[in-house]
Amino acid sequence: MPGQKADLILTGKYLVTMNGSREIIEKGGIAVAGDRILETGSGKELLAKYPEAETLREEHGLIMPGLVNTHTHAAMSCFRGLADDLPLMQWLQEYIFPVEAKLTSEIVYHSTLLSLCEMIKSGTTSFCDMYLFAADVARATDLSGMRAWIGEVLYDFPSPNYGELENGFVYTENLFRQYSGNELITVTVDPHAVYTCSPDLLKKLGDMAADKNALFVIHLSENQDEVNTCNERYGCSPVTHLENLCLLNERVVADHCVIVTEDEIRLMADRGVKVAHCMESNMKLASGTAPVVRMIDAGITVGIGTDGSASNNDVDMFGEMNSVAKVHKIAGMDPTAMDAGTTLHAATFGGAKVLGAGDKIGSLEPGKKADLIVLDLNQPHLTPIYNPVSHLVYATRGSDVLHSVINGRIVMRNRRLTTLNESAVLAQMERIAQDVMKMRAE
Ligand SMILES: [Zn+2]
Repeated sequence: MPGQKADLILTGKYLVTMNGSREIIEKGGIAVAGDRILETGSGKELLAKYPEAETLREEHGLIMPGLVNTHTHAAMSCFRGLADDLPLMQWLQEYIFPVEAKLTSEIVYHSTLLSLCEMIKSGTTSFCDMYLFAADVARATDLSGMRAWIGEVLYDFPSPNYGELENGFVYTENLFRQYSGNELITVTVDPHAVYTCSPDLLKKLGDMAADKNALFVIHLSENQDEVNTCNERYGCSPVTHLENLCLLNERVVADHCVIVTEDEIRLMADRGVKVAHCMESNMKLASGTAPVVRMIDAGITVGIGTDGSASNNDVDMFGEMNSVAKVHKIAGMDPTAMDAGTTLHAATFGGAKVLGAGDKIGSLEPGKKADLIVLDLNQPHLTPIYNPVSHLVYATRGSDVLHSVINGRIVMRNRRLTTLNESAVLAQMERIAQDVMKMRAE
């Protein structure tokens, strides 16, 4: 756009665009105007072209799209390390559900702030969140400046947030109303899973998602127990159950999908279902290895998610990429599986497409929203550097992120958060941890 002014120029040693040709520009730069990317190219040329812009110049910097966490429960940071080394159903039913039943909006708000700090500091710029007290998750997210897809989790039993299920529909409707047209927050429809939601509830929520043109986010086929329960109740697998209810479509973001057959993979591909792959959570709960290599081969759009901090135990997407790339190699005894480029794509552009936002975020291209991060490569564990993409998956840590820009706004500069008061958030969490311990003892 000739004559347009840039507000911000970032330059670095590499610009990893993740565009269609996966172009990497050495000594690259990016010009941002308002909330959008104006131009990418030579850092030197952009600095000369837009002399009036604010600049962030990093001689050893790597600029890349912000990471997209396609499945998390941000507020579960308050349960980090509370119960480990247990199977999924026992972990959920004996440890997580009992304390979740006593959650309050304030605990959710502050615990979400904690994950927001952690996410920004480890390079995530957008995430998809399913939890209780979603209005408080959204309130915290709004303060942080992060981009998010947020839904209130619904299930058959009463919720500590809205009480009886019928109130859950009203609560969700209110969320849609409140965030309609919001620049950064998009509301989703979130049935917990097929084993906690009746067919009637699933159908009602399917109708709601269609009506609102919203994502339908659900834990699906997370482990063998879930498949067994579904088989006992409905005589079919979770994926087939959704198909039988006419709910398998392009709005579905299916979290986990660990136990799926070849036929189900083909069906999900045909129906346009997207998958959020949560490898570290699946490892920790010994749920299994989701066949994402075969899903990607079948044409399914796959993103990466950390799941909540109670089953991971962090929301660091760099750590998650490292796990994803390695586990699929050992699982298939194939070192070529989930190569670095494929894994990085899933954590950026793939994740954006999972959330229906491939036209807005996930790559650094003119016209897209300015969601990007800058890493500091001038460190022992990142030296030497032959292939930046290899480093991003196999050597980088979340703590290597220096700056973060979301929707054109600098939310972290030199590892200092600009939107959140990190030390206040940490201090508040110490108090909340004491409340959680009391809730557990009651
Ligand atoms: Zn989950």
